[in-house]
Amino acid sequence: MAERRFVVMDVGGTTLRTGLYRPEGDTLEAVRRTPTSGIAIDPDTPVRVLQERVIGQIAAEAETALRRHGGSAAGIAFAGPVTDAGCVLGAPTIWGAGGDPVAAADLLRERLGVPVVVVNDVAAAVWRYVRGPEEPPFCLITVSSGIGNKVYWGGRVLLDGGHGGELGHWTWRTDPAAPRCDCGGRGHLGAIASGRGLLAAARAAGEADAPAYRASALGLACPRPDQLTNEILALAIRSRDPFATGVLRAGLRPLASAITSVFCAIGVRRFRIIGGFARAVGQRYADLLTECLHENDCFGLDPADIDRLVLMGHADDDHGLIGAGRLLARETGNAYGSGHIPAGDTGDVRNTSHVLAHDSGSLAGERA
Ligand SMILES: [Zn+2]
Repeated sequence: MAERRFVVMDVGGTTLRTGLYRPEGDTLEAVRRTPTSGIAIDPDTPVRVLQERVIGQIAAEAETALRRHGGSAAGIAFAGPVTDAGCVLGAPTIWGAGGDPVAAADLLRERLGVPVVVVNDVAAAVWRYVRGPEEPPFCLITVSSGIGNKVYWGGRVLLDGGHGGELGHWTWRTDPAAPRCDCGGRGHLGAIASGRGLLAAARAAGEADAPAYRASALGLACPRPDQLTNEILALAIRSRDPFATGVLRAGLRPLASAITSVFCAIGVRRFRIIGGFARAVGQRYADLLTECLHENDCFGLDPADIDRLVLMGHADDDHGLIGAGRLLARETGNAYGSGHIPAGDTGDVRNTSHVLAHDSGSLAGERA
């Protein structure tokens, strides 16, 4: 059989990435990034117009890549809820709130003339971490400008009628001063513990205690709290600055509570963390989250079990691309590639080499 080549895409609010995935080697290459022609560029354009524009852009990018690489199918990870049939129900970060559902998979299949799979980006990312039919259950959590999650269990991503995977909109605070979520709600986990939420919390803490802020790594790097950035915040946490660490801890407590609830409800014991902000903080993020989980005392687990709950994902932003490729491979035969799982995983996995030739993602690039 000839080697298969899939064109894979990850469509986010700011960046549209296209790459070539080869299932036989489980490799991603030739990654190209371009700004998404959506609401980030044209905030005042009607949703219907932006929908057409973005779908047209995806089709054009995919067409070029299919021709260039000789691809036989296209897998598209999309930042928004998507039905099993590849119909996009909404994409607020891409074309704004509202708008009719878009039958993206059908439209693109017709235009491209090859099999097309369209899937939610976090659901796509899940498949990067599924190494075979025996993969134990896990919950993938993404911490970037917002928070999202998906639970994998027994060969499928758990959703019920479009519900599920929305821990970011789980309400932690109900007081009137609770921070506003990008969905319009208040006090949601995503408004508190996301990169954006933590940045707002760090700025507020800096205004509230100016002397402590000035003496911190944050104050040294950025004298004015209102000009603080996620990059500076993440670096300060990595360097164990107490002020910055305190800000993150306050955000990790509700996340730990959410994780404990998921564990208590369904027993899943692996929580893999991806997303630009968590990646920028690195292993320290998992360590601090694990500390908060110990405070919560997860029912039925001993301390050594709790130490194994949180795992960091790969330190790149290729989850949607590789996941879409692996999902396509699964749907078109030869189910699973050779999954390289990063250090910090449980000892039951043999790391295989994983060749990635592409540009490295930046924290800024992942923000929606
Ligand atoms: Zn929300």
